[in-house]
Amino acid sequence: MNNNSHDHKNGDEIGCLDAIEWLYAWLDGELDEQSVSQLEQHISHCRSCFSRRQMELELTARVEKSSKSRAPGILQDRLRKLMDEF
Ligand SMILES: [Zn+2]
Repeated sequence: MNNNSHDHKNGDEIGCLDAIEWLYAWLDGELDEQSVSQLEQHISHCRSCFSRRQMELELTARVEKSSKSRAPGILQDRLRKLMDEF
């Protein structure tokens, strides 16, 4: 955020489009820990990605779907925390 580079892959900041893509990857269990941290960081201070309501609907639907096969309790906890801050 403190430079004028267009390559945001080098910084800690990710864009809104990245955030949404990563969110889905995360819910599919395909995101590494470092990216998850960046995603959480972005969502916790960005209000542009989703409306809160939209976010809740998306996440609830995804978590319910994936919990049938993998029961990601940790994921659900983190998502709930994220939504509390949202
Ligand atoms: Zn955003």
